Amino acid sequence: METTCYLSLGSNLGDRAATIAEAIQRLAKAGTVVAVSSLYETEPVEYLDQPWFLNCTVALRTTMAPRPLLDAVLAIEQSMGRRRIVLKGPRTIDIDILLYGGETIETPVLTVPHPALGERRFVLAPLAEIAPDALHPVFRKTVRELLQSLPENGPEVRLWGKPPDSEQ
Ligand code: ADP
Ligand code: MG
Repeated sequence: METTCYLSLGSNLGDRAATIAEAIQRLAKAGTVVAVSSLYETEPVEYLDQPWFLNCTVALRTTMAPRPLLDAVLAIEQSMGRRRIVLKGPRTIDIDILLYGGETIETPVLTVPHPALGERRFVLAPLAEIAPDALHPVFRKTVRELLQSLPENGPEVRLWGKPPDSEQ
């Protein structure tokens, strides 16, 4: 059975756009990439003394269960040279599972929906482009509603460019 899941990709080291495009190509091995948002340039949150990020979101239709999908995502991060040096610090590539169908998952290694989904404009803005009506199964709100409820004066998120090329 196929499930539609939504992933967030971010990079703030090296050629950020090329890195994100490459990560999307690798994700195509875990399923079918059915939508890719525009790229957004975003101000760092939490750990502020680092370069701005590029972020986008991807819709993936997959037969992989959540845990194997997480392992595939972490393997892509590793293979693309991600090293965890500073918590919340600079990274070549970060891939997070935002939503997995309508499922709620709470294990030591995987929390879905992603715990910060409801409060991050850098995730909700690109997600609202490809899935405005997707429902947060815990908050019972759509992505559009979550985005509209964010404060105006939060960290900056600017439209930066077209979606990276992807296997559609
Ligand atoms: P962050 O994305 O919060 O900056 P990391 O990318 O270093 O942090 O992820 C740390 C761990 O978060 C991963 O090893 C993974 O086990 C866990 N994790 C829990 N839920 C998720 C999720 N929904 N998507 C991705 N990783 C998750
Ligand atoms: Mg992550």
